[in-house]
Amino acid sequence: MAIVAHPDDIEFSCSGTLALWARAGARVSLVLCTSGDVGIAREDITRQEAAALREAEAQAAAEIIGATEIRFLREPDGSLQATLDLRRKLVREIRRFRPEVVITGDPTVVWAGDNYINHPDHRAASLAAIEAVFPAAGQPHVFEELAAEGLVAYKVRKVYVTNWSAGEVFICIDDTIECKIAALQAHKSQMGNWDVAKNIREWAAARGKDHGMNFAEGYKVVSLESDEDWAKYKGNVFGRS
Ligand SMILES: [Zn+2]
Repeated sequence: MAIVAHPDDIEFSCSGTLALWARAGARVSLVLCTSGDVGIAREDITRQEAAALREAEAQAAAEIIGATEIRFLREPDGSLQATLDLRRKLVREIRRFRPEVVITGDPTVVWAGDNYINHPDHRAASLAAIEAVFPAAGQPHVFEELAAEGLVAYKVRKVYVTNWSAGEVFICIDDTIECKIAALQAHKSQMGNWDVAKNIREWAAARGKDHGMNFAEGYKVVSLESDEDWAKYKGNVFGRS
């Protein structure tokens, strides 16, 4: 399950990895906190129209990635906050889909290179995601009201934190780089004259070059459950003695 702020965040950060995992048979859920409704700066388009357009683009990209599903939480774009309400919504998604791995951004990143400030929505979505993963999703008495929806506590095994500049774990996306490029190109309203194929190849090549890969995506990986515990319980906290 990937949890991000906007349509296209997944495609930029981790779509090569998700496509790879989907091809290997993994179920993949894409959770978008906002529908990018302020992301089209044109006077002739309303926020509602922009959201509808961007959801359609995200849906097309999800199909290219091979995702099982895409979920739109429809929080306000440009004003996203890591509230308790958002945490509850994300816990609902996690308890429903029961992902082994959650991929999200790094909420501590403020400065990104010399010419970009990380969008506050990115930090909010990432913070809400990790607060939902741990400990909330796995605690039976947190958000107990979700039990009425048949959703019980569930422990995510690993968090993959997308990393723009470095990373510690590198996933080779040689086999899915074209898929990543095509998924980004599906976000037509965002790409303008930007040369997607050239730039994405350069970024992914820079990450892969020291690791024997033509193209890579980089992550920090946090393991919350040991391999042994996961094999025994598969995240089901009620199954434990
Ligand atoms: Zn974004």
